[in-house]
Amino acid sequence: MAKRKSWDEKSKGMHKSRKLIIDTVFGREDNTQRVHGYEGKGYVKREVGEVWTDSDGKKWKQENGFKVAVTEMDDVRQFLDKLTTCHDEKCETTKYTYSDKKLIRKTGYCINCLHKKERVLRDDGTWPFYEDYKITRNKLDYVRDLKAQMEEALRGVKQQLEMVSEDGRIETWTWDVDVEQVKKDLQRDIDGAYDAIEALLERKAALEDKFRELNHPELIRN
Ligand SMILES: [Zn+2]
Repeated sequence: MAKRKSWDEKSKGMHKSRKLIIDTVFGREDNTQRVHGYEGKGYVKREVGEVWTDSDGKKWKQENGFKVAVTEMDDVRQFLDKLTTCHDEKCETTKYTYSDKKLIRKTGYCINCLHKKERVLRDDGTWPFYEDYKITRNKLDYVRDLKAQMEEALRGVKQQLEMVSEDGRIETWTWDVDVEQVKKDLQRDIDGAYDAIEALLERKAALEDKFRELNHPELIRN
């Protein structure tokens, strides 16, 4: 009986890539991978609270019965915390009411802290500028929104509209107006909105200069 050839002898004439495949599958070279190169990739029981990193470098944490990607959840949590926590470092509110939460989302501060801040603004003369700033920003939002709606309308305005009815018939609707005039009017309104936005942005910038001058740069918003 011939002596069994060693793997190295047997694979001598074998094509390189085929050898590599066999080596990889059966783990001939790497002793730690002897069991079908499978160890490490199989199911590993984790303790609740255990954190580990997978082969893609992604961090995981075992929760009770399921695992979550740590970094992703942390980002989400951090983001949510930011949205729902009063920004004032000296905040003493321990439990937020519904109104607190609403105000924090809108202004960044709970009711108490916002009142305190507003009192300071009243005392040092910043208040009228602050009020003006809030109104200017609201107007800016409003006009931008309006302009977007008008632009949308301008793109969609047509003399004839084809409608597919439920039974598949195509009905043509003709709008009994001078569409060219409608377009012209819309365009004029859009131009007007541009001018308004420009003026509001100038006003906003001027008020921001005033805030800096009054030592309240924290009031500046996007
Ligand atoms: Zn607060």
